[in-house]
Amino acid sequence: MMKPNPHYGELKDSYLFAGIAKKTKTYLEEHPEKSLLRLGIGDVSLPLCPAVIEALHAAVDDQSKKETFHGYQPECGAPFLRETIAAHYSKRNVKLTPEEAFVSSGASDELGDILDLFTPENAAMVLEPAYPAYLDASVIAGRKIIHVPASTENGFLPGPPKDETAGLIYICSPNNPTGAVFSKRQLQNWVDYANETGAVIIFDAAYEAYIEDPSLPHSIFELDGARTCAIEICSLSKTAGFTGTRMGYTVIPMELNRGGMSLNAMWVRNRTTKTNGVSYILQRCGAAVFTNEGQRQIKEQIAVYKKNAKTVTEALDKCGVWYTGGKNAPYIWLKCPGGMGSWEFFDYLLNEIQVVGTPGEGFGKCGEGFVRFSTFGSPEDTKEAAKRLTALLGGK
Ligand code: PLP
Repeated sequence: MMKPNPHYGELKDSYLFAGIAKKTKTYLEEHPEKSLLRLGIGDVSLPLCPAVIEALHAAVDDQSKKETFHGYQPECGAPFLRETIAAHYSKRNVKLTPEEAFVSSGASDELGDILDLFTPENAAMVLEPAYPAYLDASVIAGRKIIHVPASTENGFLPGPPKDETAGLIYICSPNNPTGAVFSKRQLQNWVDYANETGAVIIFDAAYEAYIEDPSLPHSIFELDGARTCAIEICSLSKTAGFTGTRMGYTVIPMELNRGGMSLNAMWVRNRTTKTNGVSYILQRCGAAVFTNEGQRQIKEQIAVYKKNAKTVTEALDKCGVWYTGGKNAPYIWLKCPGGMGSWEFFDYLLNEIQVVGTPGEGFGKCGEGFVRFSTFGSPEDTKEAAKRLTALLGGK
């Protein structure tokens, strides 16, 4: 008889987004005349930029002709895209060979699949509040979880614990949900700790394109020693609006070895076993993101979301509400005023001004008392939400 993986039973119900959907649905049923301003969504609202659309059409045409048709692509990525990604890193003085950059169908797939490289005995250290996939993928694999809570005291950027170690450490910077970004010095502490303890850092750089402060690291490989302790997982979802198109990349340096085994070589073996590569059409779209024109166009889109962030943070400043993020990240993490709990403040915003946020408690226990706003909505809705927030929370 087949034995199911018992660890699925240990997963907490994903009540966060289900809870939000239920509460907003009930509210709208009771108040059909109202419309909601959604600052809770983590999905982009702008379409793919023209450079990507052009590449998409051209690649479709390639597939229509015998002479330019492409079949299976190499499992780890087409050489043209792996070279492009390596060249992109070199602009930040990070030297990579194309063989160290793996093309993927997005960060979520990789965050789950990469766990194949580690035995379940490796505990996973999760810096919380955290993107829920780190915890859930580790629970499914039956790992012990070490929670490292963040707080206002450390600006939601915790340092390595003094008395605990783990095989795996998840770090997300710029962070979802807090929008906080590790400085080079803070990230160096984690790199040194990983090298000292033999841990491997899984660095989620899904929001690196939102960094505008030149002193902040976009890649963990900007830090000394990271090539012997880190894997970087990236996504074009929020960088270039690929949430529905699906494309990402993962960097595994050649120097990353554990137990006499190369993690890069193991990942090649994994990909060649478990995938048949990302489609030719999508890889052409991905490459278009890294052209000069593509980079200019995606920066224009990111500027729209950044402007939304400014609209919201200016309103919070006026109201004297504590927050982090919003400057180098598309998320704003705010302390619920008047000591309200996450869900209490969520209800208050929904009922009083029809603004929908995301209760922080859904990202880990230490997120209680906070709410996340995302800045991916339309500028019109964001402006209206900021106006209502200011009126509600007493901004002058
Ligand atoms: N990592 C973080 C921190 C995210 O917030 C998200 C999506 O919201 C992902 C990964 C998933 O990205 P992708 O769309 O590439 O699967």
